[in-house]
Amino acid sequence: MAKVALAGVTRRFDQAIAIEDITFTVPDGEFWVLVGPSGCGKSTILRAVAGLDIITQGQIYIGDRLVNDVSARERDVAMVFQNYALYPHMSVAENLAFGLKMRRTSPSLIQQRIETVARSLDIAHLLNRKPRQLSGGQQQRVALGRAIARQPQAFLLDEPLSNLDAQLRDETRTELKRLHQRFGITTLYVTHDQVEAMTLADQIVVLAQGNIQQIGTPQAIYASPQNCRVAQFLGNPPMNILEAYVATTQFKLEGQVFDCPATLLHQVKLQSGQSVALGIRPEHIEVTTEAASHLQVVADVVEPLGRESLVRAILPNRDRTLPAMLHFQVSPNLQIQPGDRLPIRLALEHLFLFDAASGTRLY
Ligand code: ATP
Repeated sequence: MAKVALAGVTRRFDQAIAIEDITFTVPDGEFWVLVGPSGCGKSTILRAVAGLDIITQGQIYIGDRLVNDVSARERDVAMVFQNYALYPHMSVAENLAFGLKMRRTSPSLIQQRIETVARSLDIAHLLNRKPRQLSGGQQQRVALGRAIARQPQAFLLDEPLSNLDAQLRDETRTELKRLHQRFGITTLYVTHDQVEAMTLADQIVVLAQGNIQQIGTPQAIYASPQNCRVAQFLGNPPMNILEAYVATTQFKLEGQVFDCPATLLHQVKLQSGQSVALGIRPEHIEVTTEAASHLQVVADVVEPLGRESLVRAILPNRDRTLPAMLHFQVSPNLQIQPGDRLPIRLALEHLFLFDAASGTRLY
């Protein structure tokens, strides 16, 4: 096992910059997750670390070794993709043994590793089968097992669960977490799935347009996003963002006003007329009485989810073609119907404030 470090790594394709000045270090044994919208550069980073792609600038270290000029084979990292690419003509046991044989590991050690890995991934009963005789989830576990059996310095996983159905995906995610707890292999993991990011990561790296937006623990990124992009990335439904402007000590949006919280006024210098983006998470909105409300909204879509119902509501407006939308959860007992006018209260201690133009967090 070893740390994985990137220092000022940039990859350009002709004119386009896929990743720019990427710097971070995954300490030995930690599990880091790369997230961000499609095309933000996640796979480019993994491929660069694996040695499957060249970089334009910067240094990549595995352990203390600079690997810029080391071939993919010599880097001693294992990469697992979403299409797990097992060798079709080999049995599961042969697939698991392949990387070890290539390294001239002794047959007895190979046997021992296969048994340990097969047991921990619950594939021991499948060792004699060929990949085509396995389900997608089983094939994916074999692909992970093949990577683990090699005991590489680091694991690079690119959306390894995205081809699995929902239930298998949940199970395999839990299994991955257990495997990491057990083997503690330094891992860099790419995903679109925020549940995977939140549950697996020691640290999350949020990327956008080839640049790092924020690095932090899942909790820190959720509770304290540094800008509007990060704020909207984690959380389902995502944080509500509402355009507003400042009218002396009030926020004005779609003709409605409510008082800026006093603590916010103390900390942020606001100017009358300033455009801002207000951020509030769905769990910090409640339907209340008229007198206690901050805003009036109209229910648009109501989705019952059993334990709660998810409401999409709009802030009525006359001026704009696209109405501002808000998502929040309510108790199913409230029996809200589309078209209902709802007075809502925002938990103002959880209000975020962003600069409207740059998206930078102001509060
Ligand atoms: P996704 O989540 O959709 O897989 P990603 O975050 O993994 O996306 P990358 O595949 O790393 O994104 O791509 C980053 C950027 O680099 C994209 O804008 C992509 O179009 C560009 N890119 C990637 N490979 C090439 C290439 N071979 N030639 C030109 N541009 C490329």
